Amino acid sequence: MTTSSLNWPVAALPEAELRERTYIRVGGKARWLLEPLDAEELQSAILAARERGFTPRILGGGCNMIIEDGLHDCVVITTDRMKKCFRPMRGSNDFDPKSHRGELVHSDPAEDPRLVVWAGTTLQNLCRTTNELGLSGMECLAGVPGHVGGGIAMNAGGRYGEMWDSVEVVRVIEPDGRMLDLPRQECTPRYRNGGLGERVVAGAILRFKPQKPVEVKERAKQYLLEKNRVQPVTEWSAGCVFKNPPPEVSGGRSAGMLVEQCGLKGRERGDAWVSPLHGNFVINRGHATSDDVLGLIEEVRSEVASRTGVTLELEVKVWRREPR
Ligand SMILES: Cc1cc2nc3c(=O)[nH]c(=O)nc-3n(C[C@H](O)[C@H](O)[C@H](O)COP(=O)(O)OP(=O)(O)OC[C@H]3O[C@@H](n4cnc5c(N)ncnc54)[C@H](O)[C@@H]3O)c2cc1C
Repeated sequence: MTTSSLNWPVAALPEAELRERTYIRVGGKARWLLEPLDAEELQSAILAARERGFTPRILGGGCNMIIEDGLHDCVVITTDRMKKCFRPMRGSNDFDPKSHRGELVHSDPAEDPRLVVWAGTTLQNLCRTTNELGLSGMECLAGVPGHVGGGIAMNAGGRYGEMWDSVEVVRVIEPDGRMLDLPRQECTPRYRNGGLGERVVAGAILRFKPQKPVEVKERAKQYLLEKNRVQPVTEWSAGCVFKNPPPEVSGGRSAGMLVEQCGLKGRERGDAWVSPLHGNFVINRGHATSDDVLGLIEEVRSEVASRTGVTLELEVKVWRREPR
């Protein structure tokens, strides 16, 4: 067992608090938190964790995540410090901006409507960048918190599109540490699932549609207004708790509608409650524990199943304390 942060090949924090690294502000500590700066460090962190007998867990923005309280005897790797987002140089597929050394020239965004993004870039920074450059494709993620890596792993999106609509190449680290660039056609993303299994996203090349910046901005603004009207975006939550069931199973009702029809909006447990605005959001009103949140989710799931016959599947990821 490693006893010192110096024994790790990347920046490492012992007994690191995870709560503040989640949007819902719930969760305990990780035995080790590793903070790689780039894809190579991410690769080293994964290999080092595995050599020490840990299966590393990957934390992006923690926006779709509920972490159990207490000490997790695990290694968590955060993408928080991997925040680069830049236009590729003409004819280049390079993920490293330093390797260009200035001798290559940027092409016009209309001519080469791509961006290279590293896993820790926030989705909102990416949206701002595409808005400014007149690159259409990310408007569907206006107001969605989290990192690009998490967005690709979860295939974040909504009624106007999803993350993988814009992915051209994704750079991943395999569980055995190999780094691969996977073209879109070799991947099988699905509804709220990037289909990458155990692979860790280090970055991606995204391809957009060039449009007038004013049009892209206006569309993003409208989607954001709509989102803010129907979702409790400023409250501490983990986003949508449940996936929407297939329409043939639920009669076309979304997960939120099913929760609402069962009269469960406003249901509470401790400091956790089901949002009165949107039935698919569980909110931490300040001091909720993971037991409050997870207990409430189970209660809602079980009542929806018994009253409607529909068993809701979790969209949020739950990290339990598990023996190694
Ligand atoms: C207010 C609010 C609104 C939201 N609205 C939406 C919405 O409209 N649509 C939507 O789809 N989602 C929505 N979400 C959920 C969330 O924002 C997205 O799922 C987002 O993509 C999660 O990214 P993250 O970086 O926070 O991932 P995390 O929550 O950190 O992780 C989620 C999962 O992805 C894995 N993961 C993270 N990074 C990587 C990586 N680099 N490689 C491999 N696996 C990784 C984690 O291990 C975990 O299993 C919302 C959440 C909130 C709080």
